[in-house]
Amino acid sequence: IPGDDQRWSWVEVDLGAIRNNVQVVKRIIPAGCRFMAVVKADGYGHGAVEVARASIAAGANQLAVAGVYEAVELRKAGITAPILVLSEPPAESIPLLLAYDIMPSVYSAEFAIAYAEMADLHGMRAPYHLAVNTGMNRIGVRFDEVIDFCRQVEFHRALDRVGTFTHFATADCAETFDFSLQFRRFCEVIDGMRQVGLDPGIVHCANSAATLRYPQTHLDMVRFGISLYGYHPCIETRGHFDLRPAMSLHARITAVNTPPMSEGVSYGLHYRSPGSVKICAVPVGYADGFSRGLSGRTAFIYGGRLCKQVGNICMDQCMFEVDLRTSAMRSRLDPHVGDEVVLFGSKDGCTIYVEDLCDVLNTIPHEIICAMSLRMPKVYL
Ligand code: PLP
Repeated sequence: IPGDDQRWSWVEVDLGAIRNNVQVVKRIIPAGCRFMAVVKADGYGHGAVEVARASIAAGANQLAVAGVYEAVELRKAGITAPILVLSEPPAESIPLLLAYDIMPSVYSAEFAIAYAEMADLHGMRAPYHLAVNTGMNRIGVRFDEVIDFCRQVEFHRALDRVGTFTHFATADCAETFDFSLQFRRFCEVIDGMRQVGLDPGIVHCANSAATLRYPQTHLDMVRFGISLYGYHPCIETRGHFDLRPAMSLHARITAVNTPPMSEGVSYGLHYRSPGSVKICAVPVGYADGFSRGLSGRTAFIYGGRLCKQVGNICMDQCMFEVDLRTSAMRSRLDPHVGDEVVLFGSKDGCTIYVEDLCDVLNTIPHEIICAMSLRMPKVYL
């Protein structure tokens, strides 16, 4: 039984869905355009190594992570594809970059020179991608300072600019003004570099939203994150691409109670039994990444029905209600310890979408899937 070595709760990851989602994109990007699978945050909670392998098998050429240790984990698992760290790491990690053949993003002269000097010392190259701030104002060399920056650091022979990229703040938004401004600035930076003989290398800017919505942004490579895992980055792409969510959350019932009418359930006893209900506990709580904010505001799939989650979600457990007053329930449902429940995903013709949970929590799918904590076993299909 998946997960029964731990707590009878587990995340299922459908690697076929990951492969499908890579192929959806491969069909819409030009033949020479590279595909970078973004597997930071443990593959958005799905398991970085497994997602990286599935993506590469489906045609991804490169990988992106947020931190050097995420990249080291991929290398230790035997993955040889180029890996980009999407921000400039601390100088202390330069030995790891060189030892494990990991490319940093660069936007400060101090880091660039420290990196180049250490590479030179060992007779190595110092490959990097130049990050350009075109308006998101998070990281990167400001768009109108790029040429000065390149001149400031290019004297160092070991430095090897493998790519130049920017990141959009609003590619998933309905309004397109700020997106267009960022894209125009980026194109001007690239043109300007070429005009003065600076090779930008692999030019890339498209996240999932830009990849799916704006073909002009595909350039030399796309960096595909949230939609690799099957989620639409925005409403505008829904219905246009066959993306399949890879993750679902499962548990087994660990206890069944039949509280008399008006008795409460869980911390605070806010939910009161209406009578004729069974209250089933499952071992999933907010410490597993199942947000307390969903308390009383979501449903679980059990026995081919949607059953209300009731009472406050606890750290390690939560409860749902099997309502015996509805005839369908009475005839079909007699919940038992060990029965399977789906907290999001599909089963028996019912689906609970991550997007439904996003509506309740006023968030984006990224936050819900990344939150699935490491103590939750993962089962790969
Ligand atoms: N590129 C960069 C620099 C990012 O920070 C991210 C994610 O935050 C991505 C690409 C992937 O974005 P998305 O998950 O929207 O596809």
